Amino acid sequence: MPLETGRTSDDHLLWVANPFTGVVTYLTDIHRKRTGFHRSNGEAPTPSVDLTTLRAHCPFCPGNEELTTQEFLRRPDDTGSSWLIRAFHNLFPRIPSECTGGKNESYVLVETPDHFRQDATSPDHLVYSAMLPPDHFREMIRAAAELSSVPFANPSVEAVVIRKNQGRESGASQPHPHTQVIGSNRPFAPVARELEVLRSDPGIFRQLVELADREGFTVDRRNGCSLYFSPIGMFPRSYEVVDLETDGRLDEIPRDRLDTFADLLRQGLAILGDTPIDYEIHADRGIPLHAHIHARHFPYSNIAGTLNLPMGLLRSRNA
Ligand SMILES: [Zn+2]
Ligand SMILES: [Zn+2]
Repeated sequence: MPLETGRTSDDHLLWVANPFTGVVTYLTDIHRKRTGFHRSNGEAPTPSVDLTTLRAHCPFCPGNEELTTQEFLRRPDDTGSSWLIRAFHNLFPRIPSECTGGKNESYVLVETPDHFRQDATSPDHLVYSAMLPPDHFREMIRAAAELSSVPFANPSVEAVVIRKNQGRESGASQPHPHTQVIGSNRPFAPVARELEVLRSDPGIFRQLVELADREGFTVDRRNGCSLYFSPIGMFPRSYEVVDLETDGRLDEIPRDRLDTFADLLRQGLAILGDTPIDYEIHADRGIPLHAHIHARHFPYSNIAGTLNLPMGLLRSRNA
């Protein structure tokens, strides 16, 4: 197969597909993003980094709505005067708009109006996703799934993924809890690969769930949905949430299935707490609804695609 590349109308290189893995590299302006993270060196905040000032400058904090792009979704709070969840265009599309019919199909969903924990005394004391109450977390996942219908309305969009980066080390540029919803003109390579494997082995996800059961890796199961430690993750602390009974695009998943899925996803995130993590939700017709959760704590232990896991990794937790 020839090397696949894409170019802009003025002949600049736009993307290259890895001929071995299918993973696409896009040439974008993401590197121009300014990081919003502040470090306190563990000491009390100095007047120049007091939390009120940091909130005032955060584009994702309530009151700063004019600092973001056009709003696409808003869940009001109890008072009706402010919001619990809000979504808008990502300033720098994750996939160049030239690839998706000239439209930016990358969205940011702000998960909560809170930026710092209630007892925060330092810029490091950030709210993280697993701190959201279960109802709020469910509503956030519902909102992300609902938002996916916006890129899907674009005829040049073929796939949508929900992606979360938590922590600067995981690639997040803003400390305020947020999630991305990204539309692409081509299938995402890992999902395409999963579909390909499913065609030759339709029971592969069931086998993974059963392996987790047998090895004591299962953390919880509800209504046919499983949360388990994944021995085949990218890094040594990976979890997966798999709903064997549900498939379909993100905007097609029935609410009760999505809620159970969200509960188990939140439970998986709670295991990792505020450590740098990412997760992705993969959903498509013909594939069980699932999420991959990765802790970015030990990134250097992934060498050339290999992984070393300690024997009896979960022994202490299951004891
Ligand atoms: Zn904020
Ligand atoms: Zn997947």
